[in-house]
Amino acid sequence: MTSPTETRTSDALRVLNRVFGYDAFRGFQREVIDHVVAGGDALVLMPTGGGKSLCYQIPALVRDGVAVVVSPLIALMQDQVDALTAVGVRAGFLNSTQDLDARRQVERAFVAGELDLLYLAPEALGTRGAQQLLDRGRISLFAIDEAHCVSQWGHDFRPDYLALSMLHERWPDVPRIALTATATSATRAEIATRLKLTEARHFVASFDRPNIQYRIVPKREPRKQLLSLLRDEHPGDAGIVYCLSRASVEKTAEFLVANGVAALPYHAGLDAGTRAANQQRFLREDGLVMVATIAFGMGIDKPDVRFVAHLDLPKSVEGYYQETGRAGRDGLPSTAWLAYGLQDVVQQRKMIETSDGDLAHRRNLATHLDAMLALCETVRCRRVQLLEYFGQTGAAGCGNCDTCLTPPETWDGTVAAQKLLSTVYRLDRERNQRFGAGHCVDILLGKQTDKITQYGHDALSTFGIGTELREAEWRGVVRQLLAEGLLAVEGDYGTLALTDASAEVLGRRRVVTMRREPERVASGRSAKPRGAATVVAELSPQATSLFERLRGWRATTAKEQGVPAYVIFHDATLRQIATDAPASLAELSRISGVGENKLAKYGEQILAVLAEAD
Ligand code: ADP
Ligand code: ZN
Repeated sequence: MTSPTETRTSDALRVLNRVFGYDAFRGFQREVIDHVVAGGDALVLMPTGGGKSLCYQIPALVRDGVAVVVSPLIALMQDQVDALTAVGVRAGFLNSTQDLDARRQVERAFVAGELDLLYLAPEALGTRGAQQLLDRGRISLFAIDEAHCVSQWGHDFRPDYLALSMLHERWPDVPRIALTATATSATRAEIATRLKLTEARHFVASFDRPNIQYRIVPKREPRKQLLSLLRDEHPGDAGIVYCLSRASVEKTAEFLVANGVAALPYHAGLDAGTRAANQQRFLREDGLVMVATIAFGMGIDKPDVRFVAHLDLPKSVEGYYQETGRAGRDGLPSTAWLAYGLQDVVQQRKMIETSDGDLAHRRNLATHLDAMLALCETVRCRRVQLLEYFGQTGAAGCGNCDTCLTPPETWDGTVAAQKLLSTVYRLDRERNQRFGAGHCVDILLGKQTDKITQYGHDALSTFGIGTELREAEWRGVVRQLLAEGLLAVEGDYGTLALTDASAEVLGRRRVVTMRREPERVASGRSAKPRGAATVVAELSPQATSLFERLRGWRATTAKEQGVPAYVIFHDATLRQIATDAPASLAELSRISGVGENKLAKYGEQILAVLAEAD
């Protein structure tokens, strides 16, 4: 006799095989699914690409009723529904982009129980209309996607998420599953409290993304550095470039286009139509580069983003992890590249100093920034440090980050730090003046600038005592002191100031170890092509040509249907088909990613493409 759990597990496995075309569950997917199918609440932390969606989609198919999925990603609901429809799952969505007819149709289907999943924006769920609608149907479960949006201290806070605590009060018997790709243990506790998920079982996966290579390079000429990264390592690849401001998004996109890279801009200053069109193109066309502010990217499930580049410093490690995590969902080699310099530290410290909000809020921002700076300045493995930040200790050096590949040199920067700090100390007496990092470095290098002459700073005892270092090296000293809290920035103009800890260095009670600034930096350290080039390189010549044919077929098919190519089949599935060259539908059905519905729909066409190539 089989226990109820075993029956459900085999139901779940059957659904995985038949509907999604996959052989086996990944990580703890099965445990989560069993738990939710049995009616339990769950909080799931899994990195991007880990396979969170199946954790609620399969329970949605196994349990009676309609699963209600709360997601902030209105612009992506259509794609999510298309992807489910493509495998024969009945899904719909309700959001503000629909006309009344479409709404009515989805509402009717929901009430009649003719849907497996219903996607809803959180702001909609807060309305009486939506709540009354939900009361008229039968709900199998609530899935709360991007659950970290409920965290007020987080980087993606959405006020509407706070209202989701009512789900538990209003529908106490419906199991809830909250999912996120980012959370420190503090955020996790906050999610559980705010969503009233106090009884929920927590499922925490490793946050490691082994296929992503992390690199952080000194910022010199960021656009040129970016361009050589794209040319040397990612020609023709799809990727995302993050910039802090709208203006720099525009300029960077123009620069790339002028240099022959197919790039599109995305920021909140563009009208909604342009934003949506650019996002659509990025998802649907191969090999586009999206240059964007962090307004872009949450929930983008394009599997073949080969690189994420940051031209400005992210405000927190959570943000960095989340944004870089958009690379390589398909598990193939990808690059996370960040250019970081003194100006980033000055600017962000200034922004915190002048930000609205109380002291606690500013402290919170500063703590987040400090952790990000520590990651930038570390001489240890970046991955180990990232994982430690998320509470996962004990990892060994990864061999796939810049500090592992080319261990940075360190030097004893104590004397240099003392020279710089005493310059700041001397300038500090002219309190009402504004002297930033550049001026201090000029003094140390003994430059006769107008400003130095004007203030008579060539008479300071530190004038010209720092000629043993190059300007870039002095900027590195300032940056590292700022990062370590041995120096501070004040006011709107980024005036340098001493901190309590500065005294330890000035008083020779503290040794300061620094990273050596490289003479020249282009894009960083690994210069062999990664991305698409490597993906194809592993295939035999024959398989490569099949793969290209299959991609051609997929592009045409996707265009006809108006869906992204990956909704038809992922690269990984096409690669497998190209390698195995199945001769029959039965053989084709055994390939991972080919489920019942896609087999019926595309099986003959695929076999025809393969036969043509013979
Ligand atoms: P997340 O939402 O966690 O970022 P997704 O749910 O989008 O990840 O899944 C990432 C990719 O992995 C998708 O292409 C998905 O189809 C695939 N995937 C998920 N689970 C499995 C599995 N058990 N076997 C094979 N592929 C899977
Ligand atoms: Zn490493």
